[in-house]
Amino acid sequence: MTAEDKTRLAALLDTAGDFLRDGHWRERETPVFEDDVTVDNAAQTIAGDGGGDSLEAAAAIAAIAAIAAEVRECRACGLCDLRILPVPGEGVQRPLVLVVGEAPGSEEDERGKPFVGVAGHLLDRMLASINLSRETNCFITNTVKCRPPGNRDPSPEETEACASFLARQIRVLRPAYILCMGRIAAQTMLRTSEGIGRLRGTFFDYTPDSAAGAPAIPLIATYHPSALLRDANLKRPAWEDLKKLLARLQT
Ligand code: SF4
Repeated sequence: MTAEDKTRLAALLDTAGDFLRDGHWRERETPVFEDDVTVDNAAQTIAGDGGGDSLEAAAAIAAIAAIAAEVRECRACGLCDLRILPVPGEGVQRPLVLVVGEAPGSEEDERGKPFVGVAGHLLDRMLASINLSRETNCFITNTVKCRPPGNRDPSPEETEACASFLARQIRVLRPAYILCMGRIAAQTMLRTSEGIGRLRGTFFDYTPDSAAGAPAIPLIATYHPSALLRDANLKRPAWEDLKKLLARLQT
């Protein structure tokens, strides 16, 4: 409710009270009210404190929260019937790196958070090795927001149904770099059927969908932490990929 609405309502209640009491209207000081702070006007409230950056950050927070709310209500593909919790993603606004995996696993499904459990801890250690973390400079999400049963690959139909959420997250977050974890994420983001062995370790340009004029975002892919847990031989090439990203981050 706006301050003006509150002032009008208070005047109406005072007048009604006077009439019911003895029929005489009494003069009184007009109380001072403030607008309610909502998601919609939070940005304007912060802007009033004097910062364009604050305005932009508040708008981004509101937009990411709105996308997450839509994900939680989404029933656009059959995975909605099988999920415990959808996993919209988490991290900072305006991340240095957007980390994209394929889809939630069982622990992510139970907790509603991306990359938790053993593979998630390994991802956190991989990111920490190049000075990245979901708490300070990354946002972590998946191409598909609900868990495919038995951890199977998401189907093309499920990926297509979910694609707009990630595209919108990228437009709002505007990451400086994108790091794809594993084959599915790399193939989906690059719209290719090439294997991860050929896609990893090379920088590509990712251009956000239907965002005409939006600058391309450098994207690099590496092996998924789950793959590293299954095959220790993949750790060295994954480390080489991370070092390439680190070199770009330091320029
Ligand atoms: Fe909706 Fe994506 Fe979940 Fe399918 S996977 S129900 S499209 S949020």
